[in-house]
Order: sequence, then structure tokens, then C-alpha cells
Amino acid sequence: MKKLIVCLMAFILAFMLVACGNSLEKTSEESTGTAATTTAQSATSDAPTAAATTTEAYEEEETQPQYYHSAIQGCVIENQDGSDEVKYCEKCESCGYVSSSTRTIHHTFGTYNSSFTCPQCGNVQKVEIESHEN
Ligand SMILES: [Zn+2]
Repeated sequence: MKKLIVCLMAFILAFMLVACGNSLEKTSEESTGTAATTTAQSATSDAPTAAATTTEAYEEEETQPQYYHSAIQGCVIENQDGSDEVKYCEKCESCGYVSSSTRTIHHTFGTYNSSFTCPQCGNVQKVEIESHEN
């Protein structure tokens, strides 16, 4: 009876050792396998990702906020280049006088308010320019 138990113990021990060894081998194989695949994946996916990041960064640098300015009253927009800068001439809505000199303002959002006295008819003309980001 004792012999049988010893035999059984030995068998179990041997089985455990084999199982242990197998699992160890398996894990080492798996880890090397996954490591190889991850390096392969990162190697293949690295290049496009890096390229995408650089283009994104480039686009971000390039994409300055674009502003659009529209004359509501009292002015004629002379020039706008998409920046916050607007060049306008004062215009009298009462008599149609347009000043020969250009004024430059920087405006990004909402309504810009100003006024001038028309040198032709004396009308105090409001100047309103609406700006918004495109
Ligand atoms: Zn006027």
C-alpha cells in the first residue's frame, strides 16, 4: 500500500514537473512570439503614424484663424486678407461721402464700433464692422 502511494506521489510529482516545464516553455515561447509581433506591428505602424503626426502638426501651424469682416454701416471695407486686420474707408451714409484715407483696425469677433463726423455734411456717422472667425 505504501509503495502504491509513493508511486502515485512520484507520478504526480513527475506530472507536475512536466506540466510546469511545459507551461514555462509555452510562456517563454508566447512572450517571445508576442514580442516579435508587437515589434513588427509597431515597426509597420510607426512610419504612417509619424507621418500623420507631422502633417497634423504642419497643418496646425498653417491653419491660422481666418476672419471675415463685413461692413454694416459707415464704412467701405478696402482690404481684408483673412487675418484680424481690416482696412476700411469712412463712409457717410447720409450724403455718400467716402474718405480718401484708409483706416486699419484689428478686430476678431463681434461688432467694431466707431464714429466720425462727415466733413461734407456734418453728419455724425456711426461706423460698424462685424467680424467673425471662419
Ligand atoms: Zn455726409
